[in-house]
Amino acid sequence: MENRRSFIKKSMLVGAGVALSTGCDKNSKPPSKSVNINRNKKVRIKLATSWPSNFPIMGEGVERFAERVNTISGGSIKIKVHAKNVLVPAFGVFDAASVGAIDAYHSASYYYKGKNEAFNMFTGFPFGMTASEMNAWLDFGGGMELWRELYDKHNLIPFKGGNTNIQMGGWFKKEINTVEDLQGLKMRIPGLGGEVFAKLGVKPIQLPAGEIFISLERNMLDATEWLGPSLDIKMGFAKAAKNYYTGWHEPGSMLSLVFNKKKFNKLSDEQKMMIEMASQEMNAYMSSQFQYENAKALTKIKESDVTIRSFPKPIMEAAKTAMLEVAHEKSSKSPDFKKVWEHAQAFLKENSAWSDIGINAYLNVR
Ligand code: CA
Repeated sequence: MENRRSFIKKSMLVGAGVALSTGCDKNSKPPSKSVNINRNKKVRIKLATSWPSNFPIMGEGVERFAERVNTISGGSIKIKVHAKNVLVPAFGVFDAASVGAIDAYHSASYYYKGKNEAFNMFTGFPFGMTASEMNAWLDFGGGMELWRELYDKHNLIPFKGGNTNIQMGGWFKKEINTVEDLQGLKMRIPGLGGEVFAKLGVKPIQLPAGEIFISLERNMLDATEWLGPSLDIKMGFAKAAKNYYTGWHEPGSMLSLVFNKKKFNKLSDEQKMMIEMASQEMNAYMSSQFQYENAKALTKIKESDVTIRSFPKPIMEAAKTAMLEVAHEKSSKSPDFKKVWEHAQAFLKENSAWSDIGINAYLNVR
């Protein structure tokens, strides 16, 4: 009798536990009515980044995010940010968060294309979305649902983590006038941009940040891309290459703030919402900072002996064709890539029509 009573008691506890956790899962999105507020629940979050310590804009942005969450949560959340190599190597953050060795990270999705080619698209792609189009795709167009669906298989929940805005096409030692000028050109250009340029004859080379300038200076590289005026100027590229080309390959690269799923789902609804809101704020802040710092750095670059150029139209047309070939090849190998690519293309078709009539028409008359 005693045993039976304790069995019933235990069963009820287990039952209650199941009901509670089901309730939590249902509320993993910001709830509309009942909010599970628990101000006493204290949580510590170990967040690692792919950036060196004190890295301008991106590193600063995630530090600001952590400070603000720690403050608005009244101490219920304590996020500690660790630069690359402190807890894990720069590109080890995905696996570390996936297995729960760290709780969260700040990085970019395309670094993990080795896991899934579709991950490229959550950062962006050549001739793809601008920062505002990317925000619209993720917030309203169904892009975030796709991102979460694919990261869920790795026990991860992604959020927007800031946008670099339009990136420059890179620094070239020689002027590029025709596709022939690209033949055999050794260029540091990662990701889909590198794969597209490879189809046009470029030899893409992957180099860590610390080796790019010296390779360019010693003619081991003919060209390099990095980001935009704000961060490029700090790398000293203007001393080694005098032709600075406008962008095409990273039109609005989205950074990512990613949580271990189990850790995130343990948070109260209030804590989840604070993180979601602070991620939106980080995203907006970083975009504004890139706009501000790029403009300031461009003024300095224009005062130097660097010439700013755009690739001639036939080169860009050839690159667009090459991008479609790259997408076709990847789609035939990866159903996930195909699904996300087609989704993003359909979104972009409608949105670029509006961007052309809206912002583009305006910029042409300003
Ligand atoms: Ca870049």
